Formats: sequence, structure tokens, C-alpha cells
Amino acid sequence: MAILKVTRMGHPVLRTPAQEVSKRELTLPQTQQLIDDMIQTMQDHDGIGLAAPQVHVGKQICIVEIPEDNSSGLQHVPLTVIVNPKVTNDAPSNHIKMWEGCLSIPGLRGQVVRTAKLTMSFWDRKGKERQLKATGYLAGVIQHEVDHLAGILFPDRMDSLATLSFSEEWSRYWQDVDGVDKGSVSFL
Ligand code: ZN
Repeated sequence: MAILKVTRMGHPVLRTPAQEVSKRELTLPQTQQLIDDMIQTMQDHDGIGLAAPQVHVGKQICIVEIPEDNSSGLQHVPLTVIVNPKVTNDAPSNHIKMWEGCLSIPGLRGQVVRTAKLTMSFWDRKGKERQLKATGYLAGVIQHEVDHLAGILFPDRMDSLATLSFSEEWSRYWQDVDGVDKGSVSFL
């Protein structure tokens, strides 16, 4: 396992739509190695999500994990490997505004508009079909990662750049303002 270098905003790979992964490609040792390295890289950065373009790989693979003893009071979401995701918006008129940061945009946070309820079909790391439903903040976390696979970064989803803040100022002025529903994730 290895900790990989994380791409930062400005690197073209973050703006290029990632390619679908074939079943054969997914089973290759180098792809499984990439997934293991992504997990180690995310955990080393205390991240809750990471997408392959963030480690210089233009493939539709991302991972999400909300640790059991997180300080935000979020539901524990076990480490989930997401390959070739397809997201359906279950409540098109229902939006939330939530604060987001990104390992590829270090030191900045902004308030982003997300859909409040979604269903996602995807493959796990073995190519098995899976489905989950997510709501609230946790649905936003998933949308953030899936956006990376389409070359979209969180500032693109802000309806105004007025809340774009450095982490230090965010902690000082904004931290307690976030009343967004924490939401839930359930695997079907
Ligand atoms: Zn990100």
C-alpha cells in the first residue's frame, strides 16, 4: 500500500470526465492496488471521500467512509468503494445548502447546493452490483465524490462565491451556522 500524491485544483485531470471501468479492468491487480492506495491516502488525510482523478487516475472509482467515532455526529458509513456510479435524484425540487471542503482545494470551504435525496447504483470493488439511498449531508458527500468523476469541483456547485472561505475564517465565523440535516445512508 502507498500514500498517493493528491492532485490540486488546476490540474487538468480534475476537469476531465473519468472513464468507465470494465469488469476485466476492475479485477486487474493494478486496479485493486489503486483502490487499496486510495483508501490509505484518504485515511492518511483524514478525508471522508476520495475520487480517482484526485490521485491522477481518470477512472470512475471513488471511495467514501464516515468513521464510527467522528466528531460531527454523522452516521457511521462503512468504507464503500464506488465504481461506475449512476445517481438518480429522488427529490428534484428539494435542495440543501451545505459546507464543503476538498482535499484538492486545500484550505478553502464553501457553501454548496446539493440535492437532498438520492439513489445510487454502482459496482463494488469486485464488480458486484450495489445500490444505496442517501439523504441530507451524507447525500451531499456522495454527490461531491461522484462530481469528481465528471470533472466537477465544489465551487461549480456554489450558487454564490460569497461564502468561499479559508478554513481559519470559516472556523471563526461560519462553523456554527451549518444547520443542515445530517441525513443517512442505507444500502439496499
Ligand atoms: Zn473533493
